[in-house]
Amino acid sequence: MVAPGLGFIMESMKTSVIGLLLTLASAAPAQVPAPAVIDWSADDSARAAFLQAHGRAYAKGSVTVWAPNDTFDVAWLNAFADSLAAAVSSLQSLIGGPFPWQRLGARPIHYYLSPGRFISHADGRGGVFISVALVRRRNAPYLHEAAHELLALQAPFAPFEYPDSVAQERAAAGFPFWLGEGLPDVLAQMTAAATGFPEGDVFAIGGLAKVDSVCAARLTASNRRAEILDRIGRPGYLEALRTTDRPQVAPVFYACSQSFTKHVVARIGLPATLALWTQIPQGTWRTALETAAGESLQRIRRSWLTRLGLPQDSIWGAALARLTPGRAIRVHHTGRGRIEGRFRSAAPATLTLDLVTSPTELSTAGLDSLWIRGNAARTGALVGAIPGAVAGVTLGVIANHVGCRDDGGDPCPEAVPLLGLAGAAGGALLGALIGSLIPKWHRRIP
Ligand SMILES: [Zn+2]
Repeated sequence: MVAPGLGFIMESMKTSVIGLLLTLASAAPAQVPAPAVIDWSADDSARAAFLQAHGRAYAKGSVTVWAPNDTFDVAWLNAFADSLAAAVSSLQSLIGGPFPWQRLGARPIHYYLSPGRFISHADGRGGVFISVALVRRRNAPYLHEAAHELLALQAPFAPFEYPDSVAQERAAAGFPFWLGEGLPDVLAQMTAAATGFPEGDVFAIGGLAKVDSVCAARLTASNRRAEILDRIGRPGYLEALRTTDRPQVAPVFYACSQSFTKHVVARIGLPATLALWTQIPQGTWRTALETAAGESLQRIRRSWLTRLGLPQDSIWGAALARLTPGRAIRVHHTGRGRIEGRFRSAAPATLTLDLVTSPTELSTAGLDSLWIRGNAARTGALVGAIPGAVAGVTLGVIANHVGCRDDGGDPCPEAVPLLGLAGAAGGALLGALIGSLIPKWHRRIP
């Protein structure tokens, strides 16, 4: 059910240096210890190699299905690969094209039905990994993962594919991850309905006809609804999805991403939805959506809430629930214009701000935007790490050059990566320190 959209951030987190820097950079604001990060794609090359050595490929036009020997009935595999190829071709027709932006081109999608337990995912390079156990349970998201591959734009598209950590961070912050999972879901469900292909239902949503009520019920019941709702229709990654907290948030996030995408498709049509998908790298997907719909994203989110039967103040509630008292914020009031102050409290439909003179209560119905003042510590850390690492590596090379010797009289090449790492950490700390002094406004609504 993941990626390339989500492998993205996973990938960017893989290098230990960047992981270290992000930890350092986020150390400034108070934070509870993070749940452990999970990496579903770490064993992909081993899985593919295992199947190449101990399995068989069933090549059927748009797909090649790899299965381990003696695991499934050969006649069943042949028939399954035929029906999957037909369904993937139907999915391709639904998307249209072939388009020059499609990374997959004319290549088939390789499905690796692999032993072991792991989260189903696409690798963005034409590979889909699904566990044998899920195939046996007849609950695998074959078409959802195929859609990920068919929707992968030419690189760089996934945030981790950008050349440096600053660009990766910027791409991840602007990426509509709800669409990244919602669009494959909607396309897979439409294709399954049209072809009769048995697409799995990993999160027990029940299809497009039930997704709205399932999303509404799960959102209402979830004690993490604020952070989840804050990511539906808005850019940015829901961090809990790639941690051991995933089971708590994924069933809600996937249902609501599918529901909101279905709402967008109903509002502007599938071709216009695909058109805004291709504008993600330019950062213009939001403008494309608002132009096609003829209304603001906030209004689209509001009409979606109405459709779900959820209160209109849910969006404000989600954003305000994440604020701590004393936080500097800025709102735009339809009558009074821009107001800046410190957050004091929030009730279901009101927001109380400490202004210079006195506390002021505002009805959220009169507000159309919310900004939070943060600082540029994170950006500073990322920017500082690069010259720091370069300086450290340079120092290591010089040290070896002028005669760094260990006890046995050999050169000490380990000084190069060690000093590089130390330089990166030092640069990140310095950058975070400088960045923490630079105020930066972050838009939360719309
Ligand atoms: Zn997915």
